[in-house]
Amino acid sequence: MKIIMLGAPGAGKGTQAKLIAEKYQVPHVSTGDIFRANIKNGTELGMEAKKYMDQGQLVPDELTVRILLDRVAQEDCKNGYVLDGFPRTIPQAQVLDEALTKQGEEIDYAINVDVPDENIVRRMSGRRACVKCGATYHIEHIPPKVEGVCDTCESELILRDDDKPETVQNRLKVYHDQTQPLIDFYTKKGVLKTVDGTVDMQDVFKAITDILG
Ligand code: ADP
Ligand code: AMP
Repeated sequence: MKIIMLGAPGAGKGTQAKLIAEKYQVPHVSTGDIFRANIKNGTELGMEAKKYMDQGQLVPDELTVRILLDRVAQEDCKNGYVLDGFPRTIPQAQVLDEALTKQGEEIDYAINVDVPDENIVRRMSGRRACVKCGATYHIEHIPPKVEGVCDTCESELILRDDDKPETVQNRLKVYHDQTQPLIDFYTKKGVLKTVDGTVDMQDVFKAITDILG
């Protein structure tokens, strides 16, 4: 099963992608997580990506597409995956489409997690991410058991640099300009499903599993 998560930054794509990955036993592939891991390890790719991420801009398509195609070519993606944060532009979607078509494959579902802009800034200022395993929490809605500490690996939880309100406004603009057109792209392909992302995390997941079966 090949699934794409669509939605504004902070809509809950990562939260739901992790639940999907667990239930359907497919890898969770997040380009944002791949970039952040590279930044943490001080790689050249990480340094290049950071320039854009810190400003709330998209990392150039050429670089992003290469990273993604390499990742989905790995053995564990053979039976499918859930893509979180990719594609984010029409050219990225076209490259993915061409790569899949060559192999006689296609995307099964594009799940659009719908959350209005008003809710997004609040969501993102409350998001906390684990420095080690990347697990995400929300200080009000999905708090960790112990404040500031990851439930899974007990490492420190931080506010991402790009979750600061000034950067979030840029990211929302970029989303509307460059990513939202993908809703039309996947509607035309007949694979788009929209769920209400404003309800409780488990209720969003229920709506998604009703679609995926
Ligand atoms: P995205 O991957 O789309 O950027 P995340 O999954 O990281 O978004 O979610 C953004 C923030 O909102 C996180 O702090 C997360 O814990 C919180 N969150 C996710 N889903 C919900 C929900 N249904 N209700 C309230 N908060 C949520
Ligand atoms: P995310 O963790 O998905 O919110 O991504 C964080 C940041 O990484 C984004 O704001 C972009 O700067 C960059 N990024 C992640 N995925 C992509 C993508 N598919 N295309 C371009 N930039 C991306």
